Amino acid sequence: MTTGDIKPAHDFIRDIIRRDIQTNKYDGRVHTRFPPEPNAYLHIGHAKSIYINFSIANEFNGLCNLRFDDTNPTKEEQEYIDAIIRDIRWLGFDWGDRLHYASDYFEQMCEYAVQLIQKGKAYVDELTAGEIREYRGTLTEPGKQSPYRERPIEENLDLFKRMRAGEFPDGSYVLRAKIDMDSPNMNMRDPVMYRILRARHPRTGDKWCIYPMYDWAHGLEDSIEGITHSICTLEFEDHRPLYDWFLDELGIYHPQQIEFARLNITYTVMSKRLLLKLVQDKSVRGFDDPRLPTLSGLRRRGYTPEVIRNFCQHTGVAKANTTIDVAFLEHCLREDLNQKAQRVMGVLRPLRLVIDNYPEDQVEEFDAMNNPEDHATGTRKVPFSRVLYIEQDDFREEPPPKYYRLAPGREVRLRYAYFITCVGITKDERSGEIVEVHCTYDPATRGGDASDGRRVKSTLHWVSARHALEAEVRLYDLPFSKENPMDVEEGTDFRAYFNPNSLEVLTSCRVEPALADVPSGSRYQFERMGYFCVDPDSSPGKLVFNRIVSLRDTWLKIQKQQE
Ligand code: ATP
Ligand code: MG
Repeated sequence: MTTGDIKPAHDFIRDIIRRDIQTNKYDGRVHTRFPPEPNAYLHIGHAKSIYINFSIANEFNGLCNLRFDDTNPTKEEQEYIDAIIRDIRWLGFDWGDRLHYASDYFEQMCEYAVQLIQKGKAYVDELTAGEIREYRGTLTEPGKQSPYRERPIEENLDLFKRMRAGEFPDGSYVLRAKIDMDSPNMNMRDPVMYRILRARHPRTGDKWCIYPMYDWAHGLEDSIEGITHSICTLEFEDHRPLYDWFLDELGIYHPQQIEFARLNITYTVMSKRLLLKLVQDKSVRGFDDPRLPTLSGLRRRGYTPEVIRNFCQHTGVAKANTTIDVAFLEHCLREDLNQKAQRVMGVLRPLRLVIDNYPEDQVEEFDAMNNPEDHATGTRKVPFSRVLYIEQDDFREEPPPKYYRLAPGREVRLRYAYFITCVGITKDERSGEIVEVHCTYDPATRGGDASDGRRVKSTLHWVSARHALEAEVRLYDLPFSKENPMDVEEGTDFRAYFNPNSLEVLTSCRVEPALADVPSGSRYQFERMGYFCVDPDSSPGKLVFNRIVSLRDTWLKIQKQQE
């Protein structure tokens, strides 16, 4: 499978929607929403949900809302709201004027709660949180009814009003739905609808001291906004009967909840809670650390929105949980960058190379191709002089078998320039380290080809020492050493598998002068070394690059082996 040969899936969600349009359910309307809780930054799993909701709305001439599910003020912050908006815009989706907040509906939700109390379908409980948990029973044992369950309606109305008015301390009372303590579905055992919580809300401030629980609030938000298909992930399947119960008991407009499988990717974690832990304990540099699967991290790493959208499309919509190989994500990345990224030469671990027979003050310029995948991008000039840098790895004093790069007595090609032959090395007397390689060049190979048809087995990239710019390059490896870091041994935590070598910083790299003043976010292929993106830490005179990904496509290799 490559990203080019899969067509958009005929998935089960689109099938449901087509059927609903045919039967004129919801008057043929399609209206979806993306409902993040602003308690952290978004990750690529959210991108999948964003992609599904917005692209479905788009395909069926419908609408998609952005709605913040801000019902839990102790964990939510304006910083997260702003970051989420920025990330969704960057992905390329637009919610028009339909930016909503659950907190805008708090008043309406309270009115609905009062209606349920009046119907005898909700009651104020004063069991403690621990008692409520105990009374709930287990999957194998039925629950036990609270002694407060049969409180008269008038008393419930009065207590709920006073809960809201701030007469009681936090945690002293809750409002619960009166459903069925014997239900095999634990979610139906009189779930809590409201709790008392004095916490400053990023939008409503101190106006409220009771906050609605997710299950109670979510269906109401969907109903109020006229959502038709409320698409969520599989873990909410068992909550659907409750979603339906609330809307049916209230007799209000009733959208349909549809669940699909979460996106998981190997060697990373896909949960805001866990990502927050990595940020808080400083395992990573922040939510936008290029090792994280957050959208801000992927953006900083150098991913384009197109890559993420393609990846979401090609991984499809499934009803059963699966984990996608990270090699497939990187394959999508390489395909995109291969088309778009300008080629340049950059040396990550420089080794000085002196061309003994090249005139001291001479400088030549060679034409280098900007992108062989896109000839319209043309060529640029690359300066060449007597002292160059090559990659340390491209020289061996004692070459092992099958090592075809530079070694004493051996001739290789310098890309776009000349054939050179190694004639000697200079070592540091004390450390024995090679400090300089000496070569001679053959003027008859100008441009990189010998007129006598003589061949060499390798071509090296290089930069001219006096023209090159210094740069810092950050190399990344997978953030975890285990395919599924969540599969932890007892007594440990997913962080036990965090890869401490996932970041390597090289501070004395050299790149060709064409890269002076490139803006942050620009992407390049350093020939033979991978794709790189200018980091926002760059400043005039100090270039900082992130390696986006190396060149070798392990996904294609896996596919070939399978064939
Ligand atoms: P997390 O577990 O990372 O905190 P969440 O589901 O609690 O995620 P929300 O802010 O509630 O985070 O998510 C907003 C929407 O994104 C929800 O509809 C949720 O189902 C969806 N979503 C979250 N994670 C994934 C994922 N890995 N794959 C697909 N959709 C996801
Ligand atoms: Mg959630």
